[in-house]
Amino acid sequence: MSKSLNGKTALITGSTSGIGLAYAKALAGEGANIVINGFGDKDAIEKERVGLEALSGARALYSGHDLTKVDQIEAMMKEAADMFGGVDILINNAGMQHVAPVEEFPIDKWDLIIALNLNAAFHTTRLAIPYMKDKKWGRIIQTASAHSLVASPFKAAYVTAKHGLAGFTKTVALEVATFGVTANCISPGYVWTPLVENQIPDTMKARGLTREQVMNDVLLAGQPTKQFVTAEQVAATALYLCSDAAAQVTGANLSIDGGWTAQ
Ligand code: NAD
Repeated sequence: MSKSLNGKTALITGSTSGIGLAYAKALAGEGANIVINGFGDKDAIEKERVGLEALSGARALYSGHDLTKVDQIEAMMKEAADMFGGVDILINNAGMQHVAPVEEFPIDKWDLIIALNLNAAFHTTRLAIPYMKDKKWGRIIQTASAHSLVASPFKAAYVTAKHGLAGFTKTVALEVATFGVTANCISPGYVWTPLVENQIPDTMKARGLTREQVMNDVLLAGQPTKQFVTAEQVAATALYLCSDAAAQVTGANLSIDGGWTAQ
């Protein structure tokens, strides 16, 4: 039985965990070849890779490069091109967070967050576009964030990177508009993943709160539904953006945030 993404190749950065892994499973479910990337336990990653091939009936490649480094991004894109010819669907999703007041924000953390959450998307995108233009079809999707639209205290680097990503995506959308290539941001509110769980201790410290207070009074405080978004809900939106129905959706920033940025 043919599936909607048969013959397409999707590269998803930061897909060994959380939202990225949910994207990989959703796109594999529609028959795409998948390139996963990110860190983690080798055996666990290999298990996921094999599982993706079983799901898709196509191929899955793991490329474990560190995307804070330009030469490693170039190596990952080359591995994908060598195996699949090029990337039809690029999802820039790898990201990290650090929580601290601006005047105490560690310089190395600032540089890393800007490199991973913003600069890496520029490098993968510039390397993916020529193939997409040749094919007259492509999908560029960024996992941005509610923090691409509004700010929160103590997240200066993250908010800066995500706002930058939103502007970058609009520019790309205009440049590739006549080539059948779309570029969009998906902007989740809080999704329960390791990235969120890991920032709880620093937020407790920065704000002098208990774990429960951070969950209810900080994380879900701004989310009117009072529920975390699921990674699967985010992935379903990426599937929509890959469909023909979304061919005219470009330069958009789609919020999935329980109403957070409506306020
Ligand atoms: P996660 O921590 O579960 O996943 C992050 C992924 O990035 C992992 O696969 C990790 O190995 C990979 N990664 C980390 N550093 C890397 C590096 N240097 N090179 C390559 N890969 C690297 O986090 P998540 O919550 O699934 O976040 C995914 C994206 O979603 C991020 O861009 C994040 O900013 C965004 N986001 C998350 C939430 C949320 O509430 N979880 C909300 C809005 C946006």
